Amino acid sequence: MEFKPADANALMYITPRPDIVFTEGRGMWLTDHNGKAYLDFMQGWAVNCLGHSPQCIVDALTTQAKKLINPSPAFYNQPMLEFANLLTENSCFDRVFFANSGAEANEGAIKLARKWGKQHKNGAFEIITFDHSFHGRTLATMSASGKPGWDTIFAPQVAGFPKADLNDIASVEKCINANTVAVMLEPVQGEGGVLPASPEFMQALRALTKKHQILLIVDEVQTGVGRCGELFAYQLSDIEPDIMTLAKGIGGGVPLAALLCKEEVACFVPGDQGGTYCGNPLMTAVGTAVLKELLSPGFMPAVREKSAYLSSQLNALSDQFGLDGERGAGLLRALKLGSDIGPQLVEAARNMNPLGLLLNSPRPDLLRFMPALNVTIAEIDQMIALLAELIRQVKSGEAV
Ligand SMILES: *Cc1c(COP(=O)(O)O)cnc(C)c1O
Repeated sequence: MEFKPADANALMYITPRPDIVFTEGRGMWLTDHNGKAYLDFMQGWAVNCLGHSPQCIVDALTTQAKKLINPSPAFYNQPMLEFANLLTENSCFDRVFFANSGAEANEGAIKLARKWGKQHKNGAFEIITFDHSFHGRTLATMSASGKPGWDTIFAPQVAGFPKADLNDIASVEKCINANTVAVMLEPVQGEGGVLPASPEFMQALRALTKKHQILLIVDEVQTGVGRCGELFAYQLSDIEPDIMTLAKGIGGGVPLAALLCKEEVACFVPGDQGGTYCGNPLMTAVGTAVLKELLSPGFMPAVREKSAYLSSQLNALSDQFGLDGERGAGLLRALKLGSDIGPQLVEAARNMNPLGLLLNSPRPDLLRFMPALNVTIAEIDQMIALLAELIRQVKSGEAV
């Protein structure tokens, strides 16, 4: 196809985009309108957990589309029932509400906690969240987020989201008062720069929330569904939260999200929650296909093996170029660059020829890696080789 920048004038300008149009994707690879191939370590922001257009998703979509696309959320459908049961059988949760995006699932979690607070805590409604957290782009989830500047763009904010510091239990304790109903966090802050909550902190949070009889909500939109080396990241710290949200990886690329909770917390009554597309069979059939793939023998051990390998290769790269090391959990990792060359590296990587490389820099001194969970060792090696050459060029001033 042909593409001129003016062809995009009908779109609202919400983010600067490069002058390329992606036309095809397969596994870890994307192809643009000029036929150039890119090794994709972003995967739609940790969304394509099985890579681009995996066979199991193509099959689930085509099979289901021929049968039934949407009977309405007022009726049961078979994929919705099957997927809800698969999720409760493989997590500590008892009840599921399906949604279409991470922000929508988090809105549901906030509503569920406030409803529970009405019933059990005298109308307590405050949910403690964290600096640098990211929970979505609706008004309430922007207010819950700890992104610098987000408190003023669409002021006034939704009230009731005091902020604490990650891995600082005293800062959480300080925020607790009679109005507190829950604490909500990402087990690893993704957009904030791949900052893991320590297992000790997660355990201390669980103890603290139990002591004060308030809820613990994990936003696993980015960390869940195998991303961190376990099916869900809360399992890394051996705790059981009261509420969890999932999106991104759960749909392997299609819009699907879920709000899960323990039986004691499932206090919605008819009229409280819903949505036209919530639980539609086309998307929930994909969710089942994705989760079954992750549950197949050997899949998660292989994710852990590749995580360890990516971590060791990033550390080696850091040693080679005198960078600041790496961090993360599972296949959600960051390379600490030690200087603000992240955006320059992202741009140079994409513009490289003949093969491009897609990377993400959530902070200028950081690169984030979120490959498909079935990335191969050879693809990791290829990425590391391309990145090494780029860092060499940028450090030597050859690349601009
Ligand atoms: C991406 C993300 C969201 C928002 O999900 P959307 O599907 O974009 O609404 C919420 N929380 C976390 C932790 C995320 O990474």
